[in-house]
Amino acid sequence: MVQVNDSYLKLKAGYLFPEIARRVKAFSEAHPEARIIRLGIGDVTEPLPAACRAAMTKAIEAMGTREGFHGYGPEQGYPWLREAIARHDFQSRGCEVSAEEIFISDGSKCDSSNILDILGAGNRVAVTDPVYPVYVDSNVMAGRTGDADEGGRYGGLTYLPLTAGNGFVAPLPERPVDLIYLCFPNNPTGAVATREQLKQWVDYALAHDALILFDAAYEAFISDPELPHSIYEIEGARRCAIEFRSFSKNAGFTGTRCAFTVVPRGLSGTTASGERVELWGLWNRRQSTKFNGVSYIVQRGAEAVYSPEGQEQVRALIGFYMENASIIRRELQAAGLQVHGGEQAPYVWIGTPEGMDSWGFFDHLLGNAHVVGTPGSGFGAAGEGYFRLSAFNSRANVEEAMQRIRAL
Ligand SMILES: *Cc1c(COP(=O)(O)O)cnc(C)c1O
Repeated sequence: MVQVNDSYLKLKAGYLFPEIARRVKAFSEAHPEARIIRLGIGDVTEPLPAACRAAMTKAIEAMGTREGFHGYGPEQGYPWLREAIARHDFQSRGCEVSAEEIFISDGSKCDSSNILDILGAGNRVAVTDPVYPVYVDSNVMAGRTGDADEGGRYGGLTYLPLTAGNGFVAPLPERPVDLIYLCFPNNPTGAVATREQLKQWVDYALAHDALILFDAAYEAFISDPELPHSIYEIEGARRCAIEFRSFSKNAGFTGTRCAFTVVPRGLSGTTASGERVELWGLWNRRQSTKFNGVSYIVQRGAEAVYSPEGQEQVRALIGFYMENASIIRRELQAAGLQVHGGEQAPYVWIGTPEGMDSWGFFDHLLGNAHVVGTPGSGFGAAGEGYFRLSAFNSRANVEEAMQRIRAL
């Protein structure tokens, strides 16, 4: 008799995006003339940087020759990409991260889920609320939680509320935890953590022998020179943190697929019998066994992000999205809305108007401005009363959407 993984049955049915799609479909059927603008999705819209395309084209041509053909590559990624990353993303910022500590992958979504493979089932896990749903659902699937309550919160998880009161930066937990998921700049709130705030978390993790899983998918959107891009800019983080990075949002690789995870040498956890074991070796083993690497072509494309032209093109892309974010912020503030985020991140987190909950505001914007956003309550109970707009869109769409909202 084949048994299924019962833990999957604990998952709350994927509610948020199907429900958005259902409401948008119903509206457009009733109003076929309405031109709907979608500012709800977390996907990029602008074309791939020319430097990345040129590098991938060249790699494809090389693959067509006997000398330039590449079969299986190293599971951890090609050394030239790992070295470029170590140098540009870490050593240039004073972080002591070496190429061998960087593991290339096809996405941060998979890495931040797969990391549970090397971590014990008994870890007490903390997540923020609201949260990027992958962290929660991957714990549910791995059998690391109890059942969900009516509010959608799973037993066994510690939820750290992100509120206007704490500036949407996770407060330290009241009960001890072993594993902490942090994402800065944050999806969905658009908040960013200061050096002092991250230091509190690193100090906490060191004091409690806990592990921080730091998702820095949006680090490239930080423009304030005082703000840390990597957790490793904080002293001691090498002993308590793994960092996830991706080319999805900075270089538009959401459909091309390339990311990486940093596992510092010397970072360790405890075995059932109380010995210390290096996580690097476990992750290396996990990747070598279950993963066969990212394509040569795509890794050449990612490497081109670090060329002078690539750097310039990525900066321009980010500048474009951040100009969208600043238009959204300015127009919504002028419309009298309470606006957070959108300054160091491509997401604007809006307080819904008096008397309207997250879904109420969704229906209001869809029905009256034909603009689609994402209800904050979809990211967790503490997201109720908030609404996320994304800066990933064309300038024309952003301007028209804001004009329509202003006119309400
Ligand atoms: C988009 C995003 C990522 C990137 O995921 P990929 O699988 O690399 O495309 C990671 N974390 C968060 C919070 C994101 O929003």
